[in-house]
Amino acid sequence: TRAAAAAGLGRILVFVRLRPMAKKETEAGSNCCVRIMNHNNNKSDVYLTQVSTDNNDYLRLKRLRGRHFTFDASFPDSTTQQQVYSKTTAELVEAVLGGRNGSVFCYGATGAGKTYTMLGTVENPGVMVLAIKDLFNKIRQRSFNGNHLIHLSYLEVYNETVRDLLSPGRPLVLREDKQGIVAAGLSHYRAYSSDEVMALLQQGNKNRMTEPTRANETSSRSHAILQVVIEYQVKDGSSNNNNNNNNNIVKRVGKLSLIDLAGSERAIATDQRTLRSLEGANINKSLLALSSCINGLVEGKKHIPYRNSKLTQLLKDSLGGDCTTVMIANISPSSLSFSETQNTLHWADRAKQI
Ligand code: ADP
Ligand code: MG
Repeated sequence: TRAAAAAGLGRILVFVRLRPMAKKETEAGSNCCVRIMNHNNNKSDVYLTQVSTDNNDYLRLKRLRGRHFTFDASFPDSTTQQQVYSKTTAELVEAVLGGRNGSVFCYGATGAGKTYTMLGTVENPGVMVLAIKDLFNKIRQRSFNGNHLIHLSYLEVYNETVRDLLSPGRPLVLREDKQGIVAAGLSHYRAYSSDEVMALLQQGNKNRMTEPTRANETSSRSHAILQVVIEYQVKDGSSNNNNNNNNNIVKRVGKLSLIDLAGSERAIATDQRTLRSLEGANINKSLLALSSCINGLVEGKKHIPYRNSKLTQLLKDSLGGDCTTVMIANISPSSLSFSETQNTLHWADRAKQI
């Protein structure tokens, strides 16, 4: 496992992405309360203060020790989608092409930039689209024709119910089979080029269960999971075949899971509390289960409680083992989101492997 660790496998990588201040937030008179300092040595500090950080008072920031976090990398609001992809996910795509599994999560409060980071816009496509584009490019560069196949599935976990986002219909049942836990009847879309994928995912995203609440107009309580399975054939070079036949063709499969998590804020800021309490509890259930799985993995525990939620069951084969897990914690710069940002940074800090 030392070699695996050196290769970055089985690791949990934690990143923080700060989004630009929104017009609404400026108009509401809020300050920027987050500051990111990047170092040369691949470390970066995130400072969170209740006062404005606009005036570059670094010494004052340094005195606020309690709200100072250090991460492998943090992205200031000027970071492009391509830069975020390259730093967080490009290596994982390489590993998946080598036949491994891995996952990338966006975590944070509603409005913090999770969907922008994962899906993005037509002009600025996010990690999901850039990863698929990169996969196609890398396959094109390969010197062998391994009959590569790329399949996509896009589903959501909403209120502990699993739904197909590409082919909406009745809730799907999770079953355990030879391949592990699968959503029975989930549609798998064969992708031929990256261009068509954006439209497909945008459409899928429209099928997500979003409920207007008073706190946020489009508060998303659903977890969206894009799974990209890449399959190809290689010659089996291992010499321990009894029949001395070195030309055995074996199938290699890698899976990349890209997850736009539900908002991590607690649903107490709305007056629809009673109505939403079931949903709130269930969202907490999936996020909580994910947190305990990640905690268990960070601490090197033997038993990881995947069974505790639909989300963690679906991701069982893409978390832990020799899978790489990437966490992108999305935060808003506005002082209006101070406590949510603090919660997100604490969560990210706990998830990171020391
Ligand atoms: P979430 O999915 O976490 O609820 P969104 O991704 O929908 O949040 O982002 C909220 C708003 O902020 C959207 O209008 C989105 O376009 C914008 N936004 C988020 N991150 C960025 C960014 N890095 N650059 C520009 N706009 C962003
Ligand atoms: Mg969203």
